[in-house]
Amino acid sequence: MVLSNYPVLEAFERNERGDLSVYCTFCKVFHHHSSDDGHKSAHCTNDESPYLKTGYIIKKTFKRISNG
Ligand SMILES: [Zn+2]
Repeated sequence: MVLSNYPVLEAFERNERGDLSVYCTFCKVFHHHSSDDGHKSAHCTNDESPYLKTGYIIKKTFKRISNG
């Protein structure tokens, strides 16, 4: 499986469990995922988002967001 064809989004820990969120520039919202990074199905609600076809890879960073 060649992952390099997929877009990579920076993921942020959103809670103490280390669940991850990514900011989607197409939907203009954070998409929430579980704590494991890697390839994900897109959670996009914007029909124009190219992620709906490919999904995306979320890559954990050490930054945190604090929206609960
Ligand atoms: Zn999206």
